[in-house]
Amino acid sequence: MSPLAGWLSGLDEVPDPVFAQRMLGDGVAIDPTGDCLHAPCGGEVTVLQPSGHAVTIRTAQGAEILMHIGLDTVALKGEGFAPCVAVGDHVAAGAPLIRFDLDAIACAAPSTITPVLLLETPGFALVRSREDGPVQVGDAIFALEPQAGATAETVQVTGETVERTIIVPLAHGIHARPAARIRDLLGEHAADVTITRQQRSANARSPVGLLTLAIGYGDEIQILATGPDAAATVETLAALIESGMGEKGHGPAPVAAPAAPVVQAPATLPADGILTGVTAAPGLAVGQARRFRLPEIQVDATSKGAAEEQARLDAACASLTARLDAEIGHAAGPQRAIIEAHRAMLGDADLRASAAKAIQDGASAGIAWRAAIAPQAEALVASGDARLAERADDLRDLERRVLLILAGAEEAPLAFPANTILIADDLLPSQVTAIDPRQVIGLCVERGGPTSHAAILAANIGLPMLVSLGPVLRQIAEDTPLILDAGLARLQVGPSVETLDEARREVAERAARRAVALAAAARPCHMADGTRIEVFANLGSQADARIAIANGAEGSGLLRTEFLFLDRETAPSVDEQAADYQAIADTLAGRPLIVRLLDVGGDKPAPYLPIPAEENPALGLRGIRVGFAHPQLLEDQIRAILRVRPIGQCRIMIPMIAGVDELRRVREILDRVRAELGITEKVELGVMVETPAAAVTADLLAAEADFLSIGTNDLTQYALAMDRGNASVASAIDGLHPAVLRLIADTCKGAASRGRWTGVCGGLASDPLAVPILIGLGVTELSATAAIVPEIKALVSELKLDAVRAHAQAALACATAADVRALAREFTA
Ligand code: PEP
Ligand code: MG
Repeated sequence: MSPLAGWLSGLDEVPDPVFAQRMLGDGVAIDPTGDCLHAPCGGEVTVLQPSGHAVTIRTAQGAEILMHIGLDTVALKGEGFAPCVAVGDHVAAGAPLIRFDLDAIACAAPSTITPVLLLETPGFALVRSREDGPVQVGDAIFALEPQAGATAETVQVTGETVERTIIVPLAHGIHARPAARIRDLLGEHAADVTITRQQRSANARSPVGLLTLAIGYGDEIQILATGPDAAATVETLAALIESGMGEKGHGPAPVAAPAAPVVQAPATLPADGILTGVTAAPGLAVGQARRFRLPEIQVDATSKGAAEEQARLDAACASLTARLDAEIGHAAGPQRAIIEAHRAMLGDADLRASAAKAIQDGASAGIAWRAAIAPQAEALVASGDARLAERADDLRDLERRVLLILAGAEEAPLAFPANTILIADDLLPSQVTAIDPRQVIGLCVERGGPTSHAAILAANIGLPMLVSLGPVLRQIAEDTPLILDAGLARLQVGPSVETLDEARREVAERAARRAVALAAAARPCHMADGTRIEVFANLGSQADARIAIANGAEGSGLLRTEFLFLDRETAPSVDEQAADYQAIADTLAGRPLIVRLLDVGGDKPAPYLPIPAEENPALGLRGIRVGFAHPQLLEDQIRAILRVRPIGQCRIMIPMIAGVDELRRVREILDRVRAELGITEKVELGVMVETPAAAVTADLLAAEADFLSIGTNDLTQYALAMDRGNASVASAIDGLHPAVLRLIADTCKGAASRGRWTGVCGGLASDPLAVPILIGLGVTELSATAAIVPEIKALVSELKLDAVRAHAQAALACATAADVRALAREFTA
């Protein structure tokens, strides 16, 4: 039966000839979605690789099944693998064999695909019983059929005997792949060959036998061959092994005593100590490293009877619900929304039903809760959707909190010394909430994504945070001095005393500048020469609107209405939407509010809007295209916006426009609903410029739109053809790329030719290096994140139009984004 949950396929899919060519035996491959390898059948553990990445089980009938988690995972030296069994153990089918950290393996190994093989065992053949596709642990995947009449070949070879001793130079010793190649090489040689290490011998033609010898780097082995071809066989085999067998990282054969194994760390710190990640929350922090690991929770695995276990689970869930209710009482903004989402997940009927079923089947409350959460979290991770995968953390957070209550353990308060920069493999939302910002001043996470709830919470409490830094983070020792410049996506490890002092001065200067800027933030924003520039804030909720006003925002250039639509079972009604928009408009007290029509799809899924799986979601049904696919939804939203009073405070903005025909379709709906509601006043309708198509046809759009607002996040993604949610290209996605700047210049020119204004509501409006260039290119409205509005206003008030125009022309002539940034730093210095 399947030892893993995941995707089942044939061995041909495995990108390693040893497995694909069945050198070790026939079988299947599973790309896992879970984190535990289970026994595929009952039997004895005959081989467990010292690094814990591969295990062999022998059935009572003598068939040997090898499971090898991921490819080239021997190089991980055990990192990420936690075996639950030892050689000689007898296990039942389904018993856990090896727990593993799937994310760590995915980051560090070429593939997580896991071959499950019937090692060549005479007398058995394998018959697949399941097609390619998803599998769960325990599903039947193949049958072992006894082959009538087949017996182990025991042909006795006679002749001369030749022996040779060699030192193994392979960095990872003789693991599965070299063992398979040795068997292949020996194919036609007329000799019996054994390999011996420390008095234990194995037939060299038996990969399983070789694996049991656990031959490592630097080990001395004896090759002994008997038969007519003995001398040539020994020479060829010794030469093959001494050549390193084409394995990565093999060293020259050590001549003296066996050297310590070459430890291949997942990654090493670069010489300059600078690591790059992905910005989850901007800011600068200078402090020292502290590691954070989730403590293991003891789960009582014995059931005291279904009724008692169900009662324990119900009580634990009720207790957590009460805690979440209490937390909601004193939370605001995104934090409140996230806790509300957790409470909703905890009450999920399917989740509770599957835990109840596991309890009926004999599981304890804790095991049942784990079993209920795991497939849901795995399904989210396996969805291939970065944003959904990030929601798996929320489920794991709930899993942990319920298990803690069941174990009678309190959540330990997180205490750290002052100026701690926390290094973690991952952080759950409740852990970010529990952090005391007087102790922890920054977060660095190995995995994670920039739009996870943990990231949103960090931004909300003003904690600089970098994610996707990778396994190299593990190389940072406790208390190492660090400079975290999350805005620049940089972590500097162990900088010099001078660099640290300079960074501390910069932190102090930023704080002082912010205090001055905040004091002056209430004034309308003008440049030093009197030119009016509107500085607005981007909003997602009424709580954001309050923060925006406190920071001196003069209105909102982007209300991301999707936050009202996501994390819910059904779309909000017209009444609900109208109430939400009205509350935000009231909080802005008459200031303009640009409401963006629903922008879901791509990286922003809504469960009740079934968007079929797409090969290229960023190029598929998203933005206004979703509105056209669901016309009632679009019309309802426009109707709700038109209900807000005073009429005209709300302007409407269309996301992801690619052409003027889309603008016309929305205007038709707007005019019809206005007429129905008897509204005669003008309601402005603008477009977002997020596609290169919109940028280069800005004049055509401006002829019919009331304003243009550039979404630089998407415009950058589409101009550079780099997925904004993909951590591997994240470091190159820079809105100050000359290609993006030229598209912004085109947009401003096109809009001006029709007498329309251009704003920016993407991330560049919050980037102090970008602001002078944007104004120099013709932008007159900037909609930034609320917290940075005072600094942007202070910066604009020091600029002069002539100077920024010249600066913008110089930026357009730069060759690279780095050149533009260097120029911008000089300009603002
Ligand atoms: C943008 O793309 O720049 C933008 C403001 O929209 P969002 O980030 O919400 O996609
Ligand atoms: Mg966008």
